[in-house]
Amino acid sequence: MPLEPKRTVAELKELRELTGDENGAQRVAWTDTWQIAREWLRRKLAETGAEEEIDEAGNQWFTVRGASERAVVIGGHIDSVPNGGWLDGALNVMAGVEVLRRIAEEGTPPVTVRLVNWADEEGARFGRSLFGSSAAAGSMRDQDELRRLQDRDGVALPDALREYGVDLDRALDARGQLENAAAYLELHIEQGPVLELLDLPLGVVLGTFGVERHRVTWTGQAAHAGSTPMDQRRDALAGAAKLALEIREIAKQTGDGAVCTSGDVVCHPGIVTSVVETAEQLLDQRHLDAAKLTSLLEQAKESSMRFAAEERIEVKWERLWSIEPILFDETLIGFCDEAIREVAGTSHELPSGPLHDAAEVARAGVPTVMLFVQSLRGLSHTKLEDTREEHLELAVQALDRLASKTIG
Ligand SMILES: [Zn+2]
Repeated sequence: MPLEPKRTVAELKELRELTGDENGAQRVAWTDTWQIAREWLRRKLAETGAEEEIDEAGNQWFTVRGASERAVVIGGHIDSVPNGGWLDGALNVMAGVEVLRRIAEEGTPPVTVRLVNWADEEGARFGRSLFGSSAAAGSMRDQDELRRLQDRDGVALPDALREYGVDLDRALDARGQLENAAAYLELHIEQGPVLELLDLPLGVVLGTFGVERHRVTWTGQAAHAGSTPMDQRRDALAGAAKLALEIREIAKQTGDGAVCTSGDVVCHPGIVTSVVETAEQLLDQRHLDAAKLTSLLEQAKESSMRFAAEERIEVKWERLWSIEPILFDETLIGFCDEAIREVAGTSHELPSGPLHDAAEVARAGVPTVMLFVQSLRGLSHTKLEDTREEHLELAVQALDRLASKTIG
């Protein structure tokens, strides 16, 4: 059975019919619709003879045994956000199905080939993303917090998972699944505008951004807006405003994809007749290079000290969350680049702003690479999410080439 990329597009439409409505995809993990999608996937793969296994974290594995136990793993997630798009996660899975069909048809491969449908990538019901992949990667360390999570209706996470045969206390046993993994491949829609701006269908992903998130609190003195001369003010908002502009320059000078965002500023007392006494500013900084990420943060801190002195106010930094950059495997990046050139003529290297299951697998030490296919208008997590059908077909071909090169 040669590769039939058109079948992938047809099956994605079939899945959309089965599990979506007029508002978009409704395959939220740990719901009946998600279960319908998983059973549909099982039927799709039945004729390949791939063995199915659901692991302790609810991940759904399909295995075509090879001459060697070492495994090449292709991954995706069939779950969606509520009112989600038809491609996020599902494209990866269905392209993987097509590649598995082609490989199974050709007889026993030299290495084992596995497709994994990760459980709850989106975290839409309980607010915890990358559930299944973090369990398999062994990086899930928030069991106590997970036990306390509830959905909107007050259902506790462990109770919801039990309905689908998953015992939270045993979820980390899924670690065994990656023991023989020699490589991990993931295709995904870009969910951003870069490839469309470059007019390219496909790109190879170098890794996922490291992130630094801080709350910056500026403290000045509340004073009457009418009676306080301009040179007598200690205006907390002045510091936040200067920093909001300065981080754009810092990002520009650092370059190589650096992004910095001042996402919010809350002022107190927050009335029109008073100088601002405190301004709480939220800052998000991202870079693929760990040293440059550190530099983004250090420069912003130094600038903030300068602005505080200029305005005679105080500034305090508090880290909210951070994650280191995760770099993908150089050999696999090379294979992926070749595969894209073969099917599309031109390739492009880009980082990923969002985190993906691939980041968890890479953190576990498995050589990993991702490829992105262009997203129209950069939209995702909405029913407006879309990609041209000819680009979807190229993506299936590129994943297949990448799998062939990796299997060797
Ligand atoms: Zn996704």
